[in-house]
Amino acid sequence: MPDDKTPGPERAISQMEQHFGRYRARTIVDASFALDGGAMFGVVPRPLWGRVAAPDDRNRIALVTRLLYLEGENRRILVDTGLGDKWDDKRRDIFAVESQDGGVVAALERLGVEREQITDVVFTHLHFDHAAGTTYRDQDDELQLTFPAALHHVQARHWEWAFNPTLKDAGSFLVEDFSLLADSDRLRLLDGGGEIYPQLEVVPLDGHTPAMQGVRVGPRGDQALFVADLVPTSAHLRWPYIMGYDNEPLVTLAEKQHLLLPAAEDGTVLIFQHDPEIIAARLRSTDRGVEIAGTLDF
Ligand SMILES: [Zn+2]
Repeated sequence: MPDDKTPGPERAISQMEQHFGRYRARTIVDASFALDGGAMFGVVPRPLWGRVAAPDDRNRIALVTRLLYLEGENRRILVDTGLGDKWDDKRRDIFAVESQDGGVVAALERLGVEREQITDVVFTHLHFDHAAGTTYRDQDDELQLTFPAALHHVQARHWEWAFNPTLKDAGSFLVEDFSLLADSDRLRLLDGGGEIYPQLEVVPLDGHTPAMQGVRVGPRGDQALFVADLVPTSAHLRWPYIMGYDNEPLVTLAEKQHLLLPAAEDGTVLIFQHDPEIIAARLRSTDRGVEIAGTLDF
């Protein structure tokens, strides 16, 4: 990838913050990484997706792990924990994992927030590019929680699945990322959607993996929507651009239409978790679906 497309350290934290109702919001880029372009775009042929995401010599496209940090209602909330640092050389090479300026903990410190002060971690799901930063290995090689005081919220159905995935998606779960939570009082299993705090709502989604959850912040009309792997990059706004990783692509398609068409109507800000360039956008509808009406940096 050309250098000017690589998010540099100065971009690990956005310079601006946005307010959505009762919450102040920032995005944090924990790391850059790369995944197979074909797997990222499913049935879409390379001549088409290659125009929006140029692959490297191993057919990988550049991605980031973008997290959402929220302050409000006396909570300090992190949505997902990123790629963390439990990476051996082989896997680091396969996925081109590069921590951005020290990763999420360093980024929070630059915002004046210690990792012990995080009150809540809301997991969209437990795939390693969303949950690996939940634990680290200390000097004695013991696993520890990165955010030891935080209540970790995850859908109960997804929690079950993470320990018993199918062969298709078993490679996306690393039990060492979340097993510590099982025996702790830091795990909150959610049974479906709804508000977990005022103006902070989770939305279960099943196409990518069972009971992934999107996160809605703010009141209607002044809202951001963090949809994780439902729309991982801005290229995936196009209806047929659905990842080969998804367990139920037709469910993904229906969920995209169900969430994105209303978002285009009411000005909801959509956050792209894996897009290396575009952080967030408002949408407009077209005769073929939705497209970006304007981008936001926060
Ligand atoms: Zn995923």
